[in-house]
Amino acid sequence: MAENQQPKNRRSGRRWLWPLGIVTTSMAGTALLLLRGCWHRKMSWPIRVEGFSYQVCLGCGVKRLFDESTFRGYGAYSYNLHDLIARDRALRLKTRREAEDKIVSAS
Ligand SMILES: [Zn+2]
Repeated sequence: MAENQQPKNRRSGRRWLWPLGIVTTSMAGTALLLLRGCWHRKMSWPIRVEGFSYQVCLGCGVKRLFDESTFRGYGAYSYNLHDLIARDRALRLKTRREAEDKIVSAS
C-alpha cells in the first residue's frame, strides 16, 4: 500500500566541476568555460585597430567586434582578435559573393 513512497532524489546541488586540466589546453574549451562563467555585461569602450573596432570584456578579457554605425557589438566572442577580424573578413567576402551571385542570376 505504501508503494507511492519513492526514494527522494539525493543529488543536492551541483556536484560537477569542470576538469580544468583539459580545458586549459584548448582555446575553445577555455573560451567556453569563461563564457559560461561570465556574461560579458561590462564591456570596455570600443577600441579601433586595423580599421576594425572591438570591445573587451572587463570581466574575463574576451573580445568582440563592434559596429560603430549601429553602436553595437556583433559576431562571436574570442580571445584572439586576429581570429575575429579574419572571420569577419571571410563573412563579408561570402555575403558579398552571395549578393553578386543574386545579381548575376537575376539578370
Ligand atoms: Zn566576460
